[in-house]
Amino acid sequence: MSDSVKYLLDESKLPQAWYNINADMPVAPQPVLHPGTMEPVTPDFLSVLFPMSLIMQEMSPERYIEIPEPVREIYKLWRPTPMFRARRLEQALDTPAHIYYKYEGASPVGSHKPNTSVAQAFYNKEAGTQALTTETGAGQWGSALAMACNFFDLDLEVYMVKVSYQQKPYRRMVMHTYGADVYASPSDRTEYGRAVLAENPNSPGSLGMAISEAVEVAATSGGTKKYSLGSVLNHVLLHQTVIGLEALEQMEMAGEYPDIIIGCAGGGSNFAGFAFPFLRENFTNGLNTKVIAAEPSSCPTLTRGEYVFDFGDTAAMAPVVKMYTLGHTFIPPSIHAGGLRYHGMSPIVSALVENGDVEARAVHQLETFEAAVQFARAEGIVPAPETAHAIRVAIDEALKCKESGEKKVIAFNLSGHGHFDMAAYEAYFNDELEDYEYPEEDIAEAMTQLPEVSVQ
Ligand SMILES: *Cc1c(COP(=O)(O)O)cnc(C)c1O
Repeated sequence: MSDSVKYLLDESKLPQAWYNINADMPVAPQPVLHPGTMEPVTPDFLSVLFPMSLIMQEMSPERYIEIPEPVREIYKLWRPTPMFRARRLEQALDTPAHIYYKYEGASPVGSHKPNTSVAQAFYNKEAGTQALTTETGAGQWGSALAMACNFFDLDLEVYMVKVSYQQKPYRRMVMHTYGADVYASPSDRTEYGRAVLAENPNSPGSLGMAISEAVEVAATSGGTKKYSLGSVLNHVLLHQTVIGLEALEQMEMAGEYPDIIIGCAGGGSNFAGFAFPFLRENFTNGLNTKVIAAEPSSCPTLTRGEYVFDFGDTAAMAPVVKMYTLGHTFIPPSIHAGGLRYHGMSPIVSALVENGDVEARAVHQLETFEAAVQFARAEGIVPAPETAHAIRVAIDEALKCKESGEKKVIAFNLSGHGHFDMAAYEAYFNDELEDYEYPEEDIAEAMTQLPEVSVQ
């Protein structure tokens, strides 16, 4: 075991291929259904939204998929990312556990998201796409895609949830800096947006609504515009596996192997990107690492949602997939400051939770910010509020070790820094945040809106 604080890989160690967990899944994937007919979709239907190369990745059974050289060249701007041993946090907690974290905040936009935005922009450019459309909440995904579209000379239309557009201007400005067009959603640019505004001119918007607008623009563009999603889909999770593949090498440099792997889960992409290569070792090499997905109690998709077929978006235009969901009509409570607001969850991550390969844990808002502040004071990095859910679980696990005297090795993914999220920290310091348990009645009500499907 080494006594280093950080483990750095040379550029030559940047992975050559992404890891596709489909090849090792302990359960068969469920079909993706057409939102109108509820029959399994054809590649033709998906090709309205995505280039064929990404559709093939979505369905591929191959264990490894080569990373194109132009994508690797751009990855090199920040990859391989560092892995740290959180020695000062261990000391502060007085725990015998060893805590490691992979730092994805090292990317130009400060999160893991460019790992897939760069790949998606590349494949779209290659397929002759002229422009991409997408949605964004607080703007992490929008800024990651804006950077990537700029590198590959693609136009970009971002539909940004209206409250965030108004209240979180900085990432919007980052998107403008990269050359993207950003619209507050619901907007008057789409039929769906106009319908929402007619009913409620003051609608604050939601991620599901913004997805519906971005999908509509691509679907009605006559093929010139395609749609891009920053999480949930299999190909997005695939692109994120560079995180875990590097981390495996870095753990080897450290001379240890994790007993516990932790990531925060919104749509599931950073969690999957970090955890799947370690799950590969569980599935193919008989290892038994515990893998935990952390989510907010106010948006408890995995811990309190149901594993059923549901629409990917609010307007019921996106494909129907089997996943843990709070219902596509879910609107997150306004008191919730920590991100991770999507109503559903990646179908692969959902299947792994259902099958018992991944454990899900919900954490409350106040204890999450408490963990974020404790981490910042010990390690110096101010984490994104999303990431803080993973940090909360890591600290809880380290404190359990303190009690039991066990010397477990705990590794989590630090999905991004929180430099654009300081208003949420300020709200925490001003005692303006509270814990919120999503009401059972609201979940039950949303479950009455699920699509009727014959497969289950
Ligand atoms: C977007 C984001 C998340 C949540 O998305 P996943 O797809 O679940 O990873 C988590 N952390 C950060 C920093 C993000 O930007």
